[in-house]
Order: sequence, then structure tokens, then C-alpha cells
Amino acid sequence: MKNITILGSTGSIGVSTLEIVAAHPDRFRIIALTAGKNLELFVRQIVQFAPRIAVVASHDDVPRLKELCSGLDVTILGGVEGLIAAATANETDMVVAAIVGAAGLVPTAAAIRAGKDIALANKETLVTAGHIFMDLVAEFGVRLFPVDSEHSAIFQSIEGHRCEDIHKIILTASGGPFLNTPASTLSQVTVRDALNHPNWSMGKKITIDSATMMNKGLEVIEARWLFSTPVENIQVNIHPQSIIHSMVEYVDGCVMAQLGTPDMKAPIAYALAYPERIVSGVKPLDLTTFSGLTFFNPDHDKFRCLDLAYRAINAGESMPAVMNAANEIAVAEFLEGRIGFTQIAETIERTMDAHSAHNLRTIDEVLKADLWGRESAREICREMVH
Ligand code: NAD
Ligand code: MG
Repeated sequence: MKNITILGSTGSIGVSTLEIVAAHPDRFRIIALTAGKNLELFVRQIVQFAPRIAVVASHDDVPRLKELCSGLDVTILGGVEGLIAAATANETDMVVAAIVGAAGLVPTAAAIRAGKDIALANKETLVTAGHIFMDLVAEFGVRLFPVDSEHSAIFQSIEGHRCEDIHKIILTASGGPFLNTPASTLSQVTVRDALNHPNWSMGKKITIDSATMMNKGLEVIEARWLFSTPVENIQVNIHPQSIIHSMVEYVDGCVMAQLGTPDMKAPIAYALAYPERIVSGVKPLDLTTFSGLTFFNPDHDKFRCLDLAYRAINAGESMPAVMNAANEIAVAEFLEGRIGFTQIAETIERTMDAHSAHNLRTIDEVLKADLWGRESAREICREMVH
């Protein structure tokens, strides 16, 4: 029996993780769950999975959650201390890090320090603090399993091979909803258009990141840390069918790829049960139903966020954390209708232009850089006329 804690159980990844847990009651037991705002769904999860600890992000929601859970045998906590308590609960073997954004940093770091294995969906932790996290993973001897589908694909394509034999990593990208939208009309697209992803059903923030292609930029940085590969050896291919989830090319010219129906339950199941493979509920792949699988290079002029991410990781130090913070603010402002779609990249670029990268040694220093990035980006958004 593997004991699991899910940080962010009410989100898209959290819900898919719980579906797999529910399908394998003989393998997995839930120890702690945490949620943000969706208390109604959270209470249903608490009733179904009977965690020992349930945590809401805001202290203000604790009394209401206690009321809704009266009669249930569960400890209700709130705030960052609550998230840390969930992440470090004694019985937990593995923590699924599925909070969105830099908010995942502190509880994920606490889980590693408590010796928990990590199934990592929250790519922002590696983007903002990759060097610190990879050092923590080594220091505390825990295992870090990627949940992001591309990184799971790479992880699976590396199994049985030597990292030093890798020539390059090819990250595939669907291209998002605006793949065929002319660059000249991108400034006019609506929030609804941007949320309409062709292949994947995900939380709002990552769906907008996919539309700007910042998601792929974040994933390049994530891959750089997970597989300690130089950024120049990580290439992005647009693959609109999202069937090949990523590839690894070796020095002998052989390429290993992982294929499957686009459904996050596959990489989640692999991370949860590794090294075993378990039934995930993912629809089997029938390649005969596709008229072709296509690949081409991304349009860097149209999707400017991709180059901003390369610029951030090449600058290193605090720049990726600032870029990530600016992106989180710009995406939130876009979702609120306060800035236009192309102003997301503009906000990030202007925030990065205003930042002098400096060394980050601790999570606290990362959080300071993150705060600086957020405040600067907010200010830039306020000045913009939509
Ligand atoms: P989501 O918005 O659907 O869910 C996020 C979860 O985190 C929710 O439970 C929410 O309540 C909680 N949360 C949000 N803000 C919080 C805060 N400040 N403090 C505590 N909890 C908070 O997001 P998602 O799509 O499930 O994505 C989660 C993470 O996984 C992201 O980092 C995303 O990039 C990554 N990811 C998601 C997918 C996907 O298919 N959804 C794929 C790959 C990677
Ligand atoms: Mg991905």
C-alpha cells in the first residue's frame, strides 16, 4: 500500500489522480488532501477518500470547511502551515505536487525535506528554483517523478539508457488553439478563444500558457533541471495531434518516443506506480484513425513567450523566477479581461527588461524575487491600455 498526499486535489491533475486512486484501492491510500477555493468538491473528496488531514489554502475558509465536515474524522487546517503539515504527514510515502504556480514551492520543498517521494505536476517549482530543488532531492535522497506528459515521456524514453548518451531532447507541443491564427489577429482573441484548447483539458492557467506557448517555455526549463540537459540540446517541435508526448535522440541517431492518447491519467499512473504499470483508464491508441502525425518548428515571432523562456534560463539566477511571476500575473490579468492576449508576452518582457538577475540560494530568496516580479508586472499591466 502506498500512502499518498495530494497538494491541489480539486484541480485538473488532482481530480485525475483521485480517479486513479479510486480505481486501485488495494494499492493507494489517501493521507492528506489540500484545496484552494472549491469547497463543495473538496468536501465530496473528503467524504469519499477519508484523508486524515484536509487543508484549505485560506485560513478564512477553515470555519466553513469544519462546519461542512462536522461528524467526519478529519483534521482541518488552513494556510501555508496547513499545506506543510499535509506535505509532511508521517504516514505519507508520496506527495503529488499539483498546486498551480509558485504557491507550490514551499509545501513541495517541505515534502522533500521530510523524505517524501514527489510526483511533480507543478512545473513552476522547477522553473523558479530548479537548482535548489534538484539539490534538495539529492540531499534528502527522495525520488522525483515527472507528471507533466512531455517529461513523463522523456523519463520513459530514458529508462534503460545512459543520460550521457543523449544527443538531444525533443519536446512536442500541440501549438494550442492559435496554431493557425494569423499573428496579426492575435491581439483580438478573447479569453474564451484562448481557453479552447484543441487536445487537452486542463486548469485555466496552464491552458492560457499553452495558448501563448509559455507552457512549452516553462517545460524547456523543467526538462533542463529534471534531466540535467543543457538548454541548447532541448528542441521544441510542434506536433498538433499530441500523440507523441516527447522524444529522446541518442548519439547513435536512434530516437525513443512515447505515444498515447492525450490524457494526463497515463503519466500520473506511471508516477504513482513506478516502476510498475497499472490500468489508468486512458483510451487505447488506434493509430489507424489518424491520417498522419506531423511535426514542424514553432513560429518564434508569433509565440514570443517561447523565446522569453529561453532568454530567462540563459540569463539564469533570479530571471526564471521573475519571468514566471510576471507570467502568472499577466495570465491572471488576461483572464480578468484587463489586458489583451498579446500583452501577456509584453508584460513578461518588460518585467524581465527591468530586472537585473542575481543569485538565489534559498527558497526565501526565490520568494522575494517572485514577489518583485509580481509587483513589477502588476504595475506594468496597470499602465497598459487594453
Ligand atoms: P488547476 O487550476 O486545475 O488546479 C490547481 C489546484 O491548486 C487546485 O486544487 C487549487 O485549488 C489549488 N491552488 C491554486 N492556487 C493555490 C494556492 N495559492 N494555494 C494552495 N492551493 C492552490 O491546475 P492544474 O491544471 O491541475 O495544474 C496544476 C499544476 O500541474 C500546474 O503547475 C500545471 O502547470 C501542471 N500541469 C497540469 C497539467 C494538466 O493537464 N492540467 C499538465 C501538466 C502539468
Ligand atoms: Mg506538458
